[in-house]
Amino acid sequence: MEGRSTPKEPNFNFTKKIMDSGGDTLNLCIQCGTCTGSCPSSKITALRTRKLIRKAQLGLEDEIFSTDDLWQCTTCYRCYERCPRGVDVPSIIIILRNMAVKRGDLAEAHQKNAGYIINTGHIIPFGKKQEAMRKKVGLDPTPPTTLSSEKALKEVKAIVKKTGFDKLITGSDKSIKNEESNEK
Ligand code: SF4
Ligand code: SF4
Repeated sequence: MEGRSTPKEPNFNFTKKIMDSGGDTLNLCIQCGTCTGSCPSSKITALRTRKLIRKAQLGLEDEIFSTDDLWQCTTCYRCYERCPRGVDVPSIIIILRNMAVKRGDLAEAHQKNAGYIINTGHIIPFGKKQEAMRKKVGLDPTPPTTLSSEKALKEVKAIVKKTGFDKLITGSDKSIKNEESNEK
């Protein structure tokens, strides 16, 4: 019918997959909306936690992965603390994110952060600005981490390789392979 979108068919196999992966509180949700009302991210992004959980309950896989909503959660756990039904929303979101990465649907900002870990062992870029800030408060310009220890960096890279993290991430975007901190 004109003007009406195609109805989305529930896919309970996908719902079961989420629940079998550790998201077994998914079916407890009664759609009260407390999570959305509590979510700091929903105030500044399009993430609507209740809606995301509803899509997950119905197994609307394509709808879940076709937007960046999944990646707007900061995993602050406020929704979980306030949910009257004990739905572990952040864990469900993490399960969905893991599925998204396997599909090659990792959000661009997260791809970048993963690239920083692969290349430097840090999730936050470190450069001249940070060095200056450390100096100002009397610290060594470089922190005692992978940034100053080749051995530690080698160990991180070995873990990255052994766990297949590099392949998983570069499978989504090969350009991060050689990316280094852009703040230097
Ligand atoms: S607060 Fe809990 S029960 Fe209410 S909508 Fe959110 S997940 Fe569902
Ligand atoms: S854990 Fe995520 S979804 Fe829940 S309140 Fe925090 S930002 Fe929102």
